[in-house]
Amino acid sequence: MNDILPDQTPVWQYLESKVKSVLSAYGYSEIRMPIVEQTDLFKRSIGEVTDIVEKEMYTFEDRNGESLTLRPEGTASCVRAGEEHGLLFNQAQRLWYTGPMFRYEKPQKGRYRQFHQIGVETFGMANADIDAEVILLSARLWKELGILDAVTLQLNSLGSNEARAEYKDALVAYLTERKSELDEDSQRRLTSNPLRILDSKDAATQALLDSAPVLTDYLDEESRLHFTQLCETLDAAGISYEVNPRLVRGLDYYCKTVFEWVTDKLGAQGTVCAGGRYDGLVKQLGGRPTPAVGFAMGVERLILMLETLAVIPQAVTQTFDVYLAAETKAIQPRIILLADRLRDSLPGLRVRVHCAGLKNISAKARQTGAPIVLLIKANEDQQLSGTIWHNDEPVFDIEESALATAISEIWKP
Ligand code: ATP
Ligand code: MG
Repeated sequence: MNDILPDQTPVWQYLESKVKSVLSAYGYSEIRMPIVEQTDLFKRSIGEVTDIVEKEMYTFEDRNGESLTLRPEGTASCVRAGEEHGLLFNQAQRLWYTGPMFRYEKPQKGRYRQFHQIGVETFGMANADIDAEVILLSARLWKELGILDAVTLQLNSLGSNEARAEYKDALVAYLTERKSELDEDSQRRLTSNPLRILDSKDAATQALLDSAPVLTDYLDEESRLHFTQLCETLDAAGISYEVNPRLVRGLDYYCKTVFEWVTDKLGAQGTVCAGGRYDGLVKQLGGRPTPAVGFAMGVERLILMLETLAVIPQAVTQTFDVYLAAETKAIQPRIILLADRLRDSLPGLRVRVHCAGLKNISAKARQTGAPIVLLIKANEDQQLSGTIWHNDEPVFDIEESALATAISEIWKP
């Protein structure tokens, strides 16, 4: 679990503000859920035989002996909240959330025990248009962030529950005959969660899968049509994708469309955004049947990408425009008020006031790297005047009454 330090938060805020503006351009509304839920919610939604439920949850008993869990993902909580407040039945909802998620994993680059996701969930829309919309929305975000060229869209259809069950039987039959050639994890999954074998990283297992039955051949007619429509819309929008018949998601609740945005810039932790359709989940959690599509992106991985690709605008890390300092101790109390007058005159101007010792103040103020440095002195009549430094050059030497106008000439909001 990490502290996010002050030199990092501007990048987080930059990413969050880009996400918010893209989501609002598509008319999505924010929902905020608690960080803990009853353990049972995650067991019932994510599935008992998944990595998350088997070994990654932070579960504890509260004082009442009730089993609670720090949320490992947001979809289950979102469905729970939607059901509880009547947001789901017979209506179309486009929701998003952001916040920390918790999984007891082996921490490494791009994988942490408290990490952050921005998630999107839509409810009540069964057609492939909404699958396309959430993908278009994510693509627009990559474009806005300048990382579209560094990510690839992988796409697959898992079909209906029945189609998937039929495929599962065929896969298990094929792999059971070759069980000894499978890696250890996959041998175990053969009985617990066979579809997960498809994304095994083991080379020998992958080689076996080359001639295994393919999920695509088992798709039901409706899922096949749904997938074709999605692909057609993406083609028309100019979004390129790779159909990956081995793409299955780790969670039990997906059906039909699944997708991942992956990158080769982050080593092993290459998935920055993952999602799909989960038409069965609302009913599974006790609601009435409600079609749903969503995805979640990993904030830490996206930030690693922005840093690796060096696409963070320089202005993002500059958290103030003006550094304001007094040249003498006597007027120091007055510059706090002067700063407020400047904020009144120039709304949005970010002023940081020097409140410590004044030794070498001119050099110190310029070392802050502020685009504009303002050094204030008083004349014999105790009137304030200032020297404005811009890009390390003194450019104005003027009375207080002219300061705001002079700053507005060089300040770039
Ligand atoms: P992975 O295969 O990398 O374990 P996952 O399938 O478990 O990912 P999801 O549950 O789909 O991941 O979560 C969506 C996104 O959240 C991932 O694509 C990734 O970007 C991010 N994510 C998941 N787990 C972590 C983690 N422990 N630390 C940081 N980011 C994570
Ligand atoms: Mg995982």
